[in-house]
Amino acid sequence: MTPPAQPRDRLRVAIQKSGRLGDPARELLASCGLTWRESRDKLFCYGESLPVDLLLVRDDDIPGLIADGVCDLGIVGRNVIVEHGLALEAKGGLPLVEWRQLGWGSCRLDVAIPDEQEWTGPEQLSGLRIATSYPLTLGRWLRDQDVDAEPVLLNGSVEIAPRLGQADAVCDLVSSGGTLRANQLKPVTTILHSEAVIAGPDRHLEDGRQEIADLLLRRLDGAVQLKEARLLMLRADRRILDSVLGLLPGGHEPTLMAVEGRDEVAISMLVHGPVSWAKLEDLKRVGAHNLMVLPVEGMLA
Ligand code: ATP
Ligand code: ZN
Repeated sequence: MTPPAQPRDRLRVAIQKSGRLGDPARELLASCGLTWRESRDKLFCYGESLPVDLLLVRDDDIPGLIADGVCDLGIVGRNVIVEHGLALEAKGGLPLVEWRQLGWGSCRLDVAIPDEQEWTGPEQLSGLRIATSYPLTLGRWLRDQDVDAEPVLLNGSVEIAPRLGQADAVCDLVSSGGTLRANQLKPVTTILHSEAVIAGPDRHLEDGRQEIADLLLRRLDGAVQLKEARLLMLRADRRILDSVLGLLPGGHEPTLMAVEGRDEVAISMLVHGPVSWAKLEDLKRVGAHNLMVLPVEGMLA
């Protein structure tokens, strides 16, 4: 299946074909009600339930595909967007922007030095070669620190560069730090905090695609909130209402409903995150009853 020619009235989203962000990106889109038909080469997925198609690519290609208008949006790490943005900026192009932060795929772009060295501060990097796949992001940080060091571009296995004598330090993505430790390196400073984002151009999409994107993002916001959402329900005598309301967890405004034939109110409230047993016991202690915490299956604000 070949992607249709421009202009397009279907939204096209680039995601990582495999790797760390591929599966969570698909799961996120599936949680927005998207279903697809895959092409035989598994590079293009035709959206069946919504006019949203997926392009499955290497993460490094995602910013370029959006900048060239081949795709409208992409799900990719901030680290990739920042590095690409700096390359574009140097050529006078318009950097992409983050349409949403997704809260997963978190990692740091850290400078790391050999274990046995002491860290005294950025000026210590002066005159050193620093191996990295993010030379522009590193270069900007070095300039901000007023340090003159040389980024050495490596597209893989950055962390073995010091042992091979290719570099004196590294600047690499870290989440647990295990890979660095295994290579006798220690992280000493963070130059970028990253997470998965929805990246797109800094303008509205054309040919009706903005409306499709808005619909998708609305569902996505709902899906993200939904993961955490609980509905807290309880009943309370009107006389103790004030103490009950004072004990309710933070979240949305509670809805109060009169209970037919009784001097009681039923209270329901949307809560973000779990409601602890201790909280339920506190509410019970002041006289609330019929306490219930329910998962939320669907939500549209
Ligand atoms: P591709 O084949 O698509 O180029 P890749 O090897 O460049 O894949 P992955 O290792 O799958 O990419 O990482 C994708 C993204 O996951 C990174 O750009 C980063 O945003 C995020 N990430 C989260 N934790 C880590 C980590 N510990 N190391 C590397 N990337 C991480
Ligand atoms: Zn990559």
